[in-house]
Amino acid sequence: MKKILITGANKGIGFETARQLIAAGHTVYLGSRDAERGQWAAAELGARLVQLDITDDASVAAAAQAIAADGGLDVLVNNAGIEARTEGNGVVDARNVTADIMRETFETNVFGTVRVLHAFMPLLERSDSPVIVNVSSGLASLTALSNPEFLGAGYPGVAYPASKTAVNMLTVQFAKAFPAMRINSVEPGFTKTDLNGNTGVQTVAQGAAIIVKMAQVGPDGPTGGFFYAEGELPW
Ligand code: NDP
Repeated sequence: MKKILITGANKGIGFETARQLIAAGHTVYLGSRDAERGQWAAAELGARLVQLDITDDASVAAAAQAIAADGGLDVLVNNAGIEARTEGNGVVDARNVTADIMRETFETNVFGTVRVLHAFMPLLERSDSPVIVNVSSGLASLTALSNPEFLGAGYPGVAYPASKTAVNMLTVQFAKAFPAMRINSVEPGFTKTDLNGNTGVQTVAQGAAIIVKMAQVGPDGPTGGFFYAEGELPW
């Protein structure tokens, strides 16, 4: 059984991923930037709460120290993410995107993910079978968004898909640099959560399934790939 950290697990797909991995018998560290929301979620699931704001150096360093002191880590699920919306909860398209919106989005989805990777790599390298799952999006796929035949090609947002394309590049380059680890990107699918104002069409159980699967790959499993429920996605 594995020791697994899930960032942004106090609600949404991360919370459901924690629930499913605990049900499979693993020890889950439930990352939550808000201690109160995290306490509720951890108690509900029987997880270990880790206060973790991925945009904050001190918070990430303290979380890594606490998990190291508790015996280490086998699996890191980089799930925490945001999609900046307009005031009316609309998608920020090419006419409306600003440098500030790009910066805000990258601050969490990309720089935050790198901050967590940097802090937890030394712990993961001590595991017998280290695994990283980067929660990306089908909207990260340059192939899909540039081909009108693909699902999601009509999505007009700029900052969010650009940030997830960058996350996919982290997957490719980290997988090459750490060949002993299994490091993959996943696309949960369009899932009903706060991220999209609950407009998604899948349940969180459906969205979490590919994360749960890739979090449990063994040493012979794939690395450096991009997966969704039905197989592999094009970059
Ligand atoms: P939610 O908004 O429900 O959950 C996002 C989680 O990330 C929350 O726990 C939130 O915490 C946390 N979070 C945000 N910023 C930070 C931060 N700085 N530090 C720590 N935690 C943070 O969204 P989803 O469950 O839908 O999203 C989970 C992941 O799935 C994201 O990476 C998203 O991009 C991805 N995804 C979602 C899809 C969907 O259709 N829902 C489709 C494809 C990908 P808080 O409660 O404090 O805000």
